[in-house]
Amino acid sequence: MAGAAPLPPFAAIVVAAGKGLRVGGDVPKQFRDFKGKPVIRWSIEALADAGADRIVTVIAPESRAEAEAALSGIAGVTFVSGGATRQDSVRAGLEALAKGAPAHVLIHDAARPDLPHTVIARLLAALADYPGAIPVLPVVDSLAVDANGVMAGKAERESLRRVQTPQAFRFPAILAAHREWQGATDAGDDAQVLTASKGSVALVQGDERLKKITFAEDFATPMDQPAFRIGQGFDVHRLEPGEELWLGGVLIPHDRGLAGHSDADVALHAITDAVLGAVGEGDIGTHFPPSDPQWRGARSGQFLEHAVGLARAAGYAIANVDLTLICEAPKIGPHRPAMRAEVARLMGLAEGAVSIKATTTERLGFTGRGEGIAAQAIVLVTLAPKGTAS
Ligand code: MG
Repeated sequence: MAGAAPLPPFAAIVVAAGKGLRVGGDVPKQFRDFKGKPVIRWSIEALADAGADRIVTVIAPESRAEAEAALSGIAGVTFVSGGATRQDSVRAGLEALAKGAPAHVLIHDAARPDLPHTVIARLLAALADYPGAIPVLPVVDSLAVDANGVMAGKAERESLRRVQTPQAFRFPAILAAHREWQGATDAGDDAQVLTASKGSVALVQGDERLKKITFAEDFATPMDQPAFRIGQGFDVHRLEPGEELWLGGVLIPHDRGLAGHSDADVALHAITDAVLGAVGEGDIGTHFPPSDPQWRGARSGQFLEHAVGLARAAGYAIANVDLTLICEAPKIGPHRPAMRAEVARLMGLAEGAVSIKATTTERLGFTGRGEGIAAQAIVLVTLAPKGTAS
């Protein structure tokens, strides 16, 4: 990482042998997409970026193909098969590293994708003084002891800590501790294994970002679907005698009208392009090519409805639209309420979400000379709650 002090050399074990089906779906959660990458890839990239020279990934044998695909192209990653319990899996990872043993090892759960470099640095620094180190956070809520649904007492939260991973160890100490533990009951984590063999474990500051992905809602807002997106559109059509003048889906009486392949509604074209732009779906010409005879004289409302449908299919709802018409004539003001109502109807919006403005260019340029009308639009879309978008 640029600018950060170099870290002592270390290897890593990432435990990804769990079935992890609690979040739903038939793919274990560590291989599912999270913010644009497989869950497991996030932390393994963080470990590789921090300088891990060997990264042993412990997987269920049947997950080999998924794991290799999820981690393709990351140097230093090898795979070993996990055991019946988490502890067996960690032991398998440690044994895989035992030949040419590293000085330090970080043991991490694949279900914690957001692994800050600062935590890795704190853990490795603590190993200068302790054989083990773990990231912890304070308990902020008060605690109750549950006896069959009835509060049986309280626990003192001040001395309690929430424990995260990765957990860091001097390699010979944790390997020996795991070998000693053989045959005993399952440990909650590797720090418990080390303390059972009388190794002391330093507590370093953890990070809320390191939280474990557990529930389906953790997957609900991937990074390639930000909560808001914005798009802009711009269009111009020529004013010619003998044409109808359609603006904002409304037929406006005027001595000339806009020329174009469709009804040349410059306002609806700008809004359509803004909607398409907000969801990255190209422009009006890619969906309704002027070369296609079926759009000759077509009403432009259907273009806008199609664009709004694409936004909904992508999981977004239209928040608002702001349109500016640029012309000397006709006067837009008298037609504004009808245009606003029609745009709102086409987009499935309340009229309050539709703004229609007009300006002249002080008789300058092609709009000033009355040769044509220009329109520009901005549209904001927001991520729709799951199941409501389409
Ligand atoms: Mg156009």
